[in-house]
Amino acid sequence: MQFIDLKTQQNTIRHSVRARIDAVLEHGKFILGPEVAELEDKLAAYVGVKHCISCSDGTTALLMALMAKGVGPGDAVFTSTFTFIATAEVIALLGATPVFIDIDDTTFNISPAKLHEAVKKAANEGKAKPKGIIPVDLFGLAADYDAVNAIAKEHGLFVLEDAAQGFGGTYNGKKSGSLAEIAATSFFPAKPLGCYGDGGAVFTNDDDVAQVLRSIRVHGKGADKYDNVRIGLNGRLDTLQAAILLAKLEVFDKELEAKQRVAKRYSQALGSAVTLPTVPDGYSSAWAQYSVRSPKRDAICAALKEKGVPTTIYYPKPLHLQSAFAGLGYKEGDFSVAEEVCRTVFSLPMHAYLSEQDQRLICDVIVRAVE
Ligand SMILES: *Cc1c(COP(=O)(O)O)cnc(C)c1O
Repeated sequence: MQFIDLKTQQNTIRHSVRARIDAVLEHGKFILGPEVAELEDKLAAYVGVKHCISCSDGTTALLMALMAKGVGPGDAVFTSTFTFIATAEVIALLGATPVFIDIDDTTFNISPAKLHEAVKKAANEGKAKPKGIIPVDLFGLAADYDAVNAIAKEHGLFVLEDAAQGFGGTYNGKKSGSLAEIAATSFFPAKPLGCYGDGGAVFTNDDDVAQVLRSIRVHGKGADKYDNVRIGLNGRLDTLQAAILLAKLEVFDKELEAKQRVAKRYSQALGSAVTLPTVPDGYSSAWAQYSVRSPKRDAICAALKEKGVPTTIYYPKPLHLQSAFAGLGYKEGDFSVAEEVCRTVFSLPMHAYLSEQDQRLICDVIVRAVE
C-alpha cells in the first residue's frame, strides 16, 4: 500500500504527460518556455488572483515573497510552531526573527488569540519590529484568515499565506492561495498538486509586488538579465515541470473530489477510535494529509505496519524545540498545545486512488488496536 499513490496517478494521465513532455523536447525552450506562462495563467485563474509567479520550489516561493515584502534584520515575523521547517527557515535566512505561536488544538493551525497576544507583546518590547505573519494551511486546511488578516490590519503587518499543503482547499468560497495579500505554494511531488521534481509558485493581486517577484526570480533583473536592479536569485520553474503540472491540473479537481470521499469514509469507519481531523464550517480541505490523534499512536502505527500500511508522523517536533532555532531561547513547555499534538498525531494513507478495500483494512486494524 502507498502513503500517496503517484504511480496509479501516473498511469491515469500518462498520455497527456507524455504529449506535454514531447512538446517541450520539440521546441527546446527549457528555461521560461511557453508552458511556464500557460501554467501561470491557468493557476492564477484557478486560484482567483491576478498574478501567479511560478518558481523553483515552495521554500523559494516563501523566500521570494518575504524578499518582495522587504523583510530583513530587525524584523519579527510571526508563524506557527507546528509546521515544516521551511516556513520559518526563510525568515531566519533573511536575518529576521521568527516568532513562534501555538496552535488551535482542533485545526492544528495558528491560534489567532495567541497570535494577537504575541504581536502586542512584541510591539511593546520594542526588540524586533513586528513586520509580518505567515499562517500555514496545515494538512490542507486553511488557517483562520478572517481573524489573522484583521490582526495584521490593526498592526500594519503583511500576511503571507503558506499554501504549500493547502492548494485546492477553500475558505468562505475562496481558494487557498488567495486568502492573504500574498501566498506561496509548493509543487513537491507529494503535495496536493505535485510535479515530478521541485516546483513552487507565489500568488498576489498586487501589480507592483508581482513585478518585483518576477525580477527577484531572475537575479533581480531590470530591463533584462544583465541589468540588475536589486539582489535576487535564480528561482525559475523548469519548463518541463510546468508541462507536467499542466497535465496534472487537468485531473486535479476530480482528485480533490475523490479525496473528499476518502476522508468521509475514514471518518465514518474510524468513529471515535481516534481523534478525527476537524473541518470547520466554511472550509474545505485539500487533504494534503489525513492526520488523526491518539494516545495509543505507537501501538496503532506498529499494528498498521505489520499489515503493510504506511503511516507518517507530521511532525514529531515543533519548530521552537528544533536545534536550528536554539539561539531563539525557546524551551519545552512554551507551546503546550503543539507539544501535545506532536506526541499524539499521525497521518494515514490519503490520495485519490485509495481503494475502499484498503481503507477498510486500515480502519479495521486501527479499531482493533485501540480496543
Ligand atoms: C513542503 C512545504 C514547504 C516547502 O516546499 P518545498 O517545495 O519542499 O520547498 C513549505 N511549507 C510547508 C508547510 C510545506 O509543507
